[in-house]
Amino acid sequence: MSKENQYQPETNAVRIQTARTNEMEHSTPLFLTSSFCFDNAEEMRATFADETDFNIYSRFSNPNVDEFVQKMCALEGAEAGYATASGMSAIFASFMALLKAGDHVLSARSIFGSTHTVITKFLPKWGIESSYFDLNDPAGIEAMIKPNTRMIFVETPSNPGLEIIDIALLAEIANKHNIILNVDNCFATPVLQRPIEAGAHIVTHSATKWIDGQGRVLGGAIVGKKELIKEIYTFCRSTGPAMSPFNAWVLSKSLETLHVRMERHSDSALKLAQALEGNPHLTSVKYPFLTSHPQYEIARKQMSGGGGIVCFELKGGLQSGVRFLNGLKLLSLTANLGDSRSIASHPASTTHAKLSDAEKATVGITPGLIRISVGLENINDILADIEQALNLSSQG
Ligand SMILES: *Cc1c(COP(=O)(O)O)cnc(C)c1O
Repeated sequence: MSKENQYQPETNAVRIQTARTNEMEHSTPLFLTSSFCFDNAEEMRATFADETDFNIYSRFSNPNVDEFVQKMCALEGAEAGYATASGMSAIFASFMALLKAGDHVLSARSIFGSTHTVITKFLPKWGIESSYFDLNDPAGIEAMIKPNTRMIFVETPSNPGLEIIDIALLAEIANKHNIILNVDNCFATPVLQRPIEAGAHIVTHSATKWIDGQGRVLGGAIVGKKELIKEIYTFCRSTGPAMSPFNAWVLSKSLETLHVRMERHSDSALKLAQALEGNPHLTSVKYPFLTSHPQYEIARKQMSGGGGIVCFELKGGLQSGVRFLNGLKLLSLTANLGDSRSIASHPASTTHAKLSDAEKATVGITPGLIRISVGLENINDILADIEQALNLSSQG
């Protein structure tokens, strides 16, 4: 790498770059190669013996992937990192590399659906048990720690409920009991929240969302303490969830604009949330930087912006949700979030439709819950589309 981690975060996100090749390129080239050559047998031997840091094979390392990882480490203030093919492979690798049979994971109940599946369906197959705590009851967490608790896992803000927990408080509990604190920082991104500064030991990411920011590629990252990342690297190097060089090239370019984008996403999302508060078709609006958010004080303490997701509850429940989606003209109906294009989703009729009403309630999915991922279109166009669809939502 040609630049050290020596500037402000937004400068590092632009300027950390692979060393210039003999072609004197300005922008990082794409190193679309599965393996790397050696000049002679001795160099090859030394590299395999870890005596050099040359690349061997793109499952282990690749210049494009390294550039992306170095930027992520600089942004998160982390010692080391590894990039994976998706957010789920990052989360899965963080569990598999750091937990063993007999261990216990203490996780927030409000977590991404696939993470919930990994914790409840797959971890038990390897003898790893888990329990869920309520994000709204931080005082109860410490009492749930068992002698075999090895990791606390949390998502803040949570998807889709936008619940928030005090990372510094969790870190204090984790350190007292010698437990790893693993924070999924997907919704805030390192631009708005730096969990490692608050005491988290590792941070996991879906780079597919805000980091890509344009709905193009999948990716994930794990950053944090050197000794923990070393375990994760050893696991990934052998099991193969590596990020592709092409995706790393795309995502590293995306990081150059992440600060500018997150500022605009947060700005527009706050405007949308404020404009919708009091709308006659809604019973509530949820956004971390609305003073009505139950954890507003914590959000202001640990986030520098509220992020790009706004949630609201339609008065008419499930059928209103369906009519609202059908009434949208500008916003996209799609499973992704964190895109330049605004997206609407209705968890009760889609992602969470298979859950019973009781199960939905425990993870905060109400029948009329709508999640908006606020894009980069003009906020007046976004707001006008949502308002006209809200008018249609109540005409059943
Ligand atoms: C999407 C998402 C993931 C999973 O990421 P993929 O890149 O889709 O595998 C994990 N956590 C959160 C909070 C997410 O929103």
